[in-house]
Amino acid sequence: MAENDRHSSQVRRAAITVGGVVQGVGFRPFVYNLARSQRLGGWVRNEADTVQIDVQGTPGAVEAFLTALRNVPPPQARIDRLEVRELPCLDAQPAEFEIRPSFGRSAPQPVIPADLATCPECVQEIFDPAQRRHLYPFTNCTNCGPRWSIIERLPYDRPQTAMKTFAMCPACRAEYEDPADRRFHAQPIACPRCGPQLELADPQGRIISRTSGQPVLQQAAEALREGKILGLKGLGGFQILVDATDPEAVERLRTRKRRPHRPLAVMMSSLEEVRRHCRVSADEAQVLTSPQTPIVLLTRKETLEENRPVPHTHPSAFIPHPSFPLPDAIAPGNPYLGVMLPYTPLHHLLLHLVGRPVVCTSGNLSEEPMATDNAEALERLGPMVDLLLWHDRPIVRPVDDSVVRLGPAGLEILRRARGYAPLPLALDLPAPPLLALGGHLKNTVAVSLDSRVRETHQTPVVLSSHVGDLDHPLSVEVFRRAAEDLQEFYQVRPAAVVCDLHPDYASTHEAEVLARRWETPCLRVQHHHAHVAACMAEHGLAGPVLGLAWDGTGYGPDGTVWGGEFLVCEGSDYRRVAHFRTFPLPGGDRAVRQPRRSALGLLFEMSPEEAADAVKVLFSPDELKTLLQMLTRKTNCPRTSSVGRLFDAVAALCGLPPVITFEGQAAMTLEFAAEPSDAMPYSLAVQTAGVPWPRSCGHAEEPHASDMPTASVGMAPVILDWEPMLRAILEDRRAGVPIGVISARFHRTLAQGAVEIAKIVNLPRIVLSGGCFQNALLLRTMIDALQTAGFTVYAHQKVPPGDGGIALGQLYVAAMSYNERNLTPIP
Ligand code: ZN
Ligand code: ZN
Ligand code: FE
Repeated sequence: MAENDRHSSQVRRAAITVGGVVQGVGFRPFVYNLARSQRLGGWVRNEADTVQIDVQGTPGAVEAFLTALRNVPPPQARIDRLEVRELPCLDAQPAEFEIRPSFGRSAPQPVIPADLATCPECVQEIFDPAQRRHLYPFTNCTNCGPRWSIIERLPYDRPQTAMKTFAMCPACRAEYEDPADRRFHAQPIACPRCGPQLELADPQGRIISRTSGQPVLQQAAEALREGKILGLKGLGGFQILVDATDPEAVERLRTRKRRPHRPLAVMMSSLEEVRRHCRVSADEAQVLTSPQTPIVLLTRKETLEENRPVPHTHPSAFIPHPSFPLPDAIAPGNPYLGVMLPYTPLHHLLLHLVGRPVVCTSGNLSEEPMATDNAEALERLGPMVDLLLWHDRPIVRPVDDSVVRLGPAGLEILRRARGYAPLPLALDLPAPPLLALGGHLKNTVAVSLDSRVRETHQTPVVLSSHVGDLDHPLSVEVFRRAAEDLQEFYQVRPAAVVCDLHPDYASTHEAEVLARRWETPCLRVQHHHAHVAACMAEHGLAGPVLGLAWDGTGYGPDGTVWGGEFLVCEGSDYRRVAHFRTFPLPGGDRAVRQPRRSALGLLFEMSPEEAADAVKVLFSPDELKTLLQMLTRKTNCPRTSSVGRLFDAVAALCGLPPVITFEGQAAMTLEFAAEPSDAMPYSLAVQTAGVPWPRSCGHAEEPHASDMPTASVGMAPVILDWEPMLRAILEDRRAGVPIGVISARFHRTLAQGAVEIAKIVNLPRIVLSGGCFQNALLLRTMIDALQTAGFTVYAHQKVPPGDGGIALGQLYVAAMSYNERNLTPIP
């Protein structure tokens, strides 16, 4: 006994379970090296979705090991859980520390890492002539490289990836098998001798040159410097590159891509280069250089005076040009620039050779999905580009570039794709496996992984990479594959399929087909309810909350087009407690591209007599006559409460472009026009149950809590009426008030209206969701106003506020519904 006690005080043995993103990120070699450095014996192995470690050594060494494990894990690992259990010591100290084979192939769902930007060590290697991977564009290691874009199925081993056809050379094999090497078990390991190779082709597919590294890249870089348009096979899809400092080349790209106005993203070689063009905060720098390396929306330094559609008086806009000025055509009239750093060795090498910023946009024709294989790129991008730079490593699934900003809510992901997908999000409740098919625009799909298998009270949800708008048949095909992919990859047999309430969405049709095939229920979640639920899911809220879902359009169960909604959401239930006053949209969906139609509809609703006169400059006499007839006869004029369309209408009435080329363009122009001003908000009228609320809301006086007609809230929705505001805007326009002031007042009016409704509903927690909250000015104004009024405000961070978040919301509503029924199937 005494012998044993003395023994255990000098030796400690611990079993350690580590959960989170711990596989495919170099975790085991890290543990191996750490254990050896502390002279610990034992082993490490992958097990289902965790890593198991068993160590024995002096108590000090074990403690040091645990401290390092907790505080300095490998850069790409994310430790969500670390449990330490003391074990009785082995009599004989294990001589070695070893990496044991993976255990338990019936793995529930290991966390698959997302694609990772090239790590600093690999960047150094490709620029070092002494290294065998000098100039090799497919260099990677366990800390970096492709993941989600190359994995065909689980478990994550090379034969199940796009690298299966590349046999490792002896040198790569040695690295792959050496636990002390940075490339130990790096599945996509490659080198110039054994890995993928580049080819440069003309738009007809004829190969111009082939070899890895310099000559091909040099030629491609040369072409870019001459203003040519390059199709590049990137990490998760084709991209189109052009010299960003060459205005003519940028215009040519816009014409060929049929994308006249939408902002283009720019890739710059280094953070220093980015700082020359944009203001970069410490947080922004950190995101730019993170392993996700997303497109970050940054404030431009360059003066945007040229071609500016509206006067702009931000003092920050007058900083002198940097060395390579970027033409306004990259993001016309936009104070922000979407910027990213190189994230593959290919991008690093190319950018280095080009020596200036390049436009780097998805490889697709407007509306179509991104091309991912060489033949497809040739067919679809051939007519658009002057050269194609591609390679022979297949892309298993499309993974577009992510877009983020450091906005009013912190780090906000506006497009969730590369670097973030498929890292799971967690629902704070148990749920069966469910498949949610999202909305129609900016589609993503989501799958929940069965929480009952894992015996936790959290349900992991995997949200697909950004799919895009489902207007084009090719996009619908990509969407179908994305849904099938998630379901097959995670081996999920959904207990239900969830979709939008809209009967005509391609995603709804697909949900019906799948539900029939699998004989499972098809659950329909109202669009704006899903918006609010997505934000609730992010913040672990079960309700009741007041959700503000403001966007372009969504199917309302009452036959109108919703989009300016105040919903009380609790559990799987929602109640529409208020909405903006509706107005007719002449031509329905056609109004999306014609803000002037929203203006006409809004004015017609207010006063059919005044409408024609107020907008006659925006239409030809014939057009106006036809539209007025439609409005009078109520033909093809759906009514809407949409805030997106309200933005369009106000933008058009302010003389901003009456016709636009992408949804949200008018709202963006109005946002960017706003001047910092302490101008008063306009007034909105609040009507309860058809009776005008006695007090007009706005700046006039503070409301009194005792006046709140909470009882009436349960009956008919409260109407937030824009008419007083509209009259005041028309008045301001006649008086020649600057658009910047009108815009600022308009934004503040909406925030004030939100506060009014929030006070009537009187719930402490407010959730903001919907595409309108991509507008940073609106989001900031709303958060400020609501917080000042004493409410707690929740906004999106992890998923987009727009329709990219719909799938998560659908899934959350369905999950809550199952919980309300004690997880029994929904009949
Ligand atoms: Zn690396
Ligand atoms: Zn090799
Ligand atoms: Fe929406």
